Amino acid sequence: MTTSPRTISGTLMLPSSDPGSVRLMRGTLTLKDGRIESIAEGDPDASADLGGGGTLVIPGLVDAHMHLPQYDSIGIDGMTLLEWLDRAIFPAECAWADADHAGDMASRVARSLLSFGTTSICAYATVHHEGTKNAIDAISSAGIRAMVGQVLMDRNAPPELCVPAAALVKQAAALTEWTRALSAQSGDRWRVEHSVNPRFAISCTPELLHGAGQLARTLNAPMQTHISENRAECAMIAQLFGGRSYTGVYEDAGLLGPRSILAHGVWLTPEEHATLASTRSIIAHCPTANSFLQSGDCDTGALRRVAIPVAVGSDIAGGTDRSMVRVARAMIETSKRVRERSSDAANRIVSPAEAWWNITTGNANAIGWRATSRLAPGVEADILIVRPDIPWANAPDPLGTLLYAWDDRWLERTLTMGEERWRRPGL
Ligand SMILES: [Zn+2]
Repeated sequence: MTTSPRTISGTLMLPSSDPGSVRLMRGTLTLKDGRIESIAEGDPDASADLGGGGTLVIPGLVDAHMHLPQYDSIGIDGMTLLEWLDRAIFPAECAWADADHAGDMASRVARSLLSFGTTSICAYATVHHEGTKNAIDAISSAGIRAMVGQVLMDRNAPPELCVPAAALVKQAAALTEWTRALSAQSGDRWRVEHSVNPRFAISCTPELLHGAGQLARTLNAPMQTHISENRAECAMIAQLFGGRSYTGVYEDAGLLGPRSILAHGVWLTPEEHATLASTRSIIAHCPTANSFLQSGDCDTGALRRVAIPVAVGSDIAGGTDRSMVRVARAMIETSKRVRERSSDAANRIVSPAEAWWNITTGNANAIGWRATSRLAPGVEADILIVRPDIPWANAPDPLGTLLYAWDDRWLERTLTMGEERWRRPGL
């Protein structure tokens, strides 16, 4: 049983010299103290601790947007965003009032994520303070790198999910300080940061949005929220905030910046793009969720052309796929639909090499996790050992074949910080 391998060989998925994409190379990784020490090119080493011929070695997958308490709510169909939140999601989130249940569920979700190859997440908990604390503990114990935020909501949700703004801001500050203290004590072994998570402007009063903005700035904490997902939502924002644009509402509250991750951004105007670009705010593109809730197709090409950093997320449970590989595939499919409708030749279809990069190194880069989810010396060893059951190596486009023929049963082992955290039963 190899729980902390020293060497792994096979076909390695590495960053390409073509920016924003990956390439494949046969070689061997050497690990030391939870990090990649070196990479050697060459035929797979038969004496390596793990891997060998036919093995694909890829960086751990990064999910830039998901909701831990919604993991069991995938597939509640037939509704669009606002009705789905009221009828499917808020009832599920009420269960996290029981903090033990929240911790147990987060542990189970963490194990499941590792079994799909996800080793890093940007996540939401619920409005419950103790439940969020237990969830953070569970995610860290599983070895996953994460930012997780207590959800901030003080209106337009069931009364049991609304907490007064001042109390929420205080609780969010306490969680941020708590995770920082644990990180200082535990070093590399503590991998979770608390983020400031106002759910979306509909469920936050201006007082709460401003309090959240001030907190994120004062503590230099990451911020997560939703923006411009669906048209009815955008109309409601205009109504609640006197016609101000969605981006303008967050700008007024001081919520934009390079540590701000805003999910969706389907219906943003060019003026809003300019504001997001000038503040270097990040859009988390969630193609499976946009499709499931019939929200629309996000034009990520337009975002990238104005230099808005784009990450990609599952948005479980608005998104129905737990595998980030299938989310990557949906990203390509969305780009094909956008291209088909666009007369702008600058609109390109995302390639498989770019899609792989997006769910690994690209996501990590966009989020600011510069030392994870890439195969390079010095980087945290979050690594997947994959054994495809098809002759992909000789395919005309191996990266396309691997992406489209992907089968979760190919994943044999998931390592975080060099340690085996999940192994396919029977191995
Ligand atoms: Zn979401």
